[in-house]
Amino acid sequence: MKKISWFGRRLVIGVLGFLAMDPLLAQGIRGTRSDGPISLDSLMFKRLFDLSLTDGHAYKRLGELCKGVGPRLSGSDNAERGIVWAVDMLKSYRFDTVFTQPVMVPRWERGDVEAVELVSPWLTDKLKRGKLAADYDCEAFVEANPKPQKMYALNACALGGSVGGKVTGALVVVDGMKALDSMGKLGLLKGKIVLLNRAFDQTLLNTFQAYGGCVNQRVNGSVSAKYGAVAVLVRSMSNKCDLHPHTGVTHYEDGVAKVPMVAVATAVADLLEDVCVNDAKHQVTVNLGCKTLDDRMSANVVASSTGSVYPEKIIAFGGHFDSWDEGEGAHDDGAGCMHAFEALRLLKEIGYTPKHTLRCVFWINEENGLRGGTEYARLAQVLGEEHVAALESDRGGFVPRGFGVDTSFLLKLSKYQKWLDAYGIGEIERGGGGADIGPLKKVNPNTVFVGFIPDSQRYFDVHHAETDVFENVNKRELQLGAAAVAAMIYTLDQELD
Ligand SMILES: [Zn+2]
Repeated sequence: MKKISWFGRRLVIGVLGFLAMDPLLAQGIRGTRSDGPISLDSLMFKRLFDLSLTDGHAYKRLGELCKGVGPRLSGSDNAERGIVWAVDMLKSYRFDTVFTQPVMVPRWERGDVEAVELVSPWLTDKLKRGKLAADYDCEAFVEANPKPQKMYALNACALGGSVGGKVTGALVVVDGMKALDSMGKLGLLKGKIVLLNRAFDQTLLNTFQAYGGCVNQRVNGSVSAKYGAVAVLVRSMSNKCDLHPHTGVTHYEDGVAKVPMVAVATAVADLLEDVCVNDAKHQVTVNLGCKTLDDRMSANVVASSTGSVYPEKIIAFGGHFDSWDEGEGAHDDGAGCMHAFEALRLLKEIGYTPKHTLRCVFWINEENGLRGGTEYARLAQVLGEEHVAALESDRGGFVPRGFGVDTSFLLKLSKYQKWLDAYGIGEIERGGGGADIGPLKKVNPNTVFVGFIPDSQRYFDVHHAETDVFENVNKRELQLGAAAVAAMIYTLDQELD
């Protein structure tokens, strides 16, 4: 056994004491790593999670955003108020820079009139005889409409971008876009109000896959007009059967007549399908007051910590600041913005000095235009900014599970797998990204793209609906998500050049 000198012993004792006091500082937290007996990586993960869970700021700030500002539809006064709040909030943390990137955004308003009404003698008769509830797994409609009426006000809302107008007609039920084409060619849609009623495939564990299997009805359903339809109702994009309609963007095809586009609650869609089958005398009236106004100036909001080794190289991470006008944009995507802000704060607070410039971004106008993400990428190109990585959080503030990651980074990330697993964020999928960082792919093809992946089971219960409010965000789940994003930013900062 090798004898340790007096000086050597003193040195070991001294270093151990320092480690006990502050191991991160002792091992060179400022951008370097050590493979010594105490793993810097494990300590970093622990510090980020501990701080987020014991003194997190994400939840409080999200509350201010949701309750103080509220919904933030692009082009609305509220969105602009939100941007002022975001700049002030970020400045209060004294990050190295806080700035905005001005960009013009579209402006669509729901208007004062929004009604979808049903007249159905069959339904009235069923309610009179108390026979409706027995036919439905979901009793929400019956509970809300216990008494027979001449006319029923349905739980519905305009889709984002819809034109206004008032039309009355009979329904025709269509199961998705393929069926739409074949029924349209047979002349079955002429003069009708189309109900696009393809439901989520409940057997898919990843609810985003179920959403992907239906959402074209909402985005492209207006093509019904080329077969003579006078309005389109779309079944809400949700796993849940309830009375909350879910809005979302819809597009019109050039050269096709623009007809009113409406989301109906899932419980209503189920009922309407039966009305359509059983009641030849039914009538639906759609009355919307929506309008599209001139574009308006808005902005992305950016806060950053300057890199110590590669200040000119950027790791961007964020969410979209705009939301739909229903609800408060709490999960979609206030949570993603707060994940990013909190990740920047956590890394600063624990004394970590990043190698690269870390940039938290609140992109504007993801929901109905993607102008913020597009402008961000354009500026990156014009200014010659090199993005080594870009991460987006836009799947809600639920329990974090892992990340979608570009294959180019998988090998480097594998070194961290045990720490990711230890914090429940080890589910790594191939391929990462998000809507707002998509345009960056075209101008910075070598960027590592990452998408934050939380549990997906409850996301579409509230997505784009009046239920997407602060009360439906769990504090601890949000804190875990913010720490997860911070931990991923740390690995990117460590492993990329
Ligand atoms: Zn979103």
